[in-house]
Amino acid sequence: MNLITQFLSGLNTASYILLYCGCFLLAVIITIVCSKTKLKLYPLIPVFGLLGGMLAVGYVTIKLELNAGIGILFVLTIPAVIIIFSCFGIEKLIDKPKALEKSAGVICSAEGHQWEPTEYACTTKCVRCGKTKVKHQFEEVSGSCEQKCSACGYTETVPHKWEGCKCSRCGQKRDKGHVVSDFKYSDDDRKVSFVCSICGDVVETKDLFDCSKKEILSVINVPGFQADDEDMLCRYLEKKGSKTYSRGVTDALLKRLTDTQIFDLVKAGKIKGQNQWALAEAADKELLNKLCGIDEISYVAQSELRKRDNIEKEKHERTFCPDGNPHEFGEEYTEQDDMGPKGDDDLAAHVYQERKCRKCSKCGYVLTER
Ligand SMILES: [Zn+2]
Ligand SMILES: [Zn+2]
Ligand SMILES: [Zn+2]
Ligand SMILES: [Zn+2]
Ligand SMILES: [Zn+2]
Repeated sequence: MNLITQFLSGLNTASYILLYCGCFLLAVIITIVCSKTKLKLYPLIPVFGLLGGMLAVGYVTIKLELNAGIGILFVLTIPAVIIIFSCFGIEKLIDKPKALEKSAGVICSAEGHQWEPTEYACTTKCVRCGKTKVKHQFEEVSGSCEQKCSACGYTETVPHKWEGCKCSRCGQKRDKGHVVSDFKYSDDDRKVSFVCSICGDVVETKDLFDCSKKEILSVINVPGFQADDEDMLCRYLEKKGSKTYSRGVTDALLKRLTDTQIFDLVKAGKIKGQNQWALAEAADKELLNKLCGIDEISYVAQSELRKRDNIEKEKHERTFCPDGNPHEFGEEYTEQDDMGPKGDDDLAAHVYQERKCRKCSKCGYVLTER
């Protein structure tokens, strides 16, 4: 201390400031060198800071002849603290961004992050690169589409688990995915309500006769289905006409009526025109024979009977010889039919159609592939 005191007392103010700045500069240089070379010499910075402070103490106490204790308190702390903190500031400014870009990022990608817990539950932070990671311990909240973290209480929604139109977890409904398997029929307005078997809602309401064949059959086959059957049949035939009516539905409706009811309907003119053909086609042979006795429909019924007889006859011919025994067909061969000239020009080339045939060796009947 005596040496330093002697040295300092010999300095003038300008030299002292120069010396003081030298100490500060040395600290700055060491900081920069440390950050560039990764040398862990940071503890030296405060030492140089303190050195500057010490010089200041000595100088001021000597020059101003102050009480040594007050001088130390005032002068040691203030410049030393200024120097230390500015050194740290510079160190931070230069060192941190580079360290982030280079060393930390490279180390983390090569060796993995170094996770450590933070003040927030479920959140960890990498001490090297500063990346955070949240990992909750979710548990399903029963009866709802939410999950809650058992550690921190954080709650979030999860997608609904749709089973048809209803969420099997929280019970929420949607207007999609209904499963229609129940029908309700109102006899008053002839409307069929299609009921979803999952949510119980009425999904659609239709006039019975606007329903598809399958739907009508489902409704009229429901036990206890109440409807005026005669009127149903008439309305059905009217609606569908002879070309588009559904055989299955007409059969089902016919089964619900007695022959007498059908006679009465025909006689009363309730089934007429094209609908008579529809009825005839759907009727069984027994009913057709009975219908032949009614003037209003006899022509239609007889035609239908003839048509069926012809079909029967042809079927029989294709299988049996005139003597009643089965045909004995030979090898298959191909025959060409001349379908006439192409287009209107008689001189144009003719169109031929091939068909496969087999001939019975006994009666000569030719079976043609259809
Ligand atoms: Zn990291
Ligand atoms: Zn959590
Ligand atoms: Zn749900
Ligand atoms: Zn539904
Ligand atoms: Zn034959």
